[in-house]
Amino acid sequence: MIETKTTWKDSGYDCDHCGGQILERTDQETGQPAQVCYQCQMCGCQWELSGDILRVGNMNSCQRTVKDQESVELNPARLRLIFVAIGLVLIGLIYFGGLVAVRYLVPLAITVFVFRAVYLLGKERMWW
Ligand SMILES: [Zn+2]
Ligand SMILES: [Zn+2]
Repeated sequence: MIETKTTWKDSGYDCDHCGGQILERTDQETGQPAQVCYQCQMCGCQWELSGDILRVGNMNSCQRTVKDQESVELNPARLRLIFVAIGLVLIGLIYFGGLVAVRYLVPLAITVFVFRAVYLLGKERMWW
């Protein structure tokens, strides 16, 4: 017969979503290795021991925190892509047009880039 036993232990952490107590949850199934994760007592979020989120709770603050984390994770990759693209364009310009073209096009590119960044920032903050 397979039996599942769940034990709870205080992890010593406080939840940064709701301030609740985070417990260490151990699920022991007969014949299986124990599964350990963290679970918040108040909002019900679950995390792996490494800190990765396993299950998101129902509170607004939980979903907001997860969304924030996702956008933070996305940004460096997007930035790197932009830099690579700019680098490739510059290399192409130097190769085909020489440095004279670069001197005119760099300020133009910077202007476009700044406007684009402001536009995206404003959209994110819902200014327009
Ligand atoms: Zn919580
Ligand atoms: Zn939560």
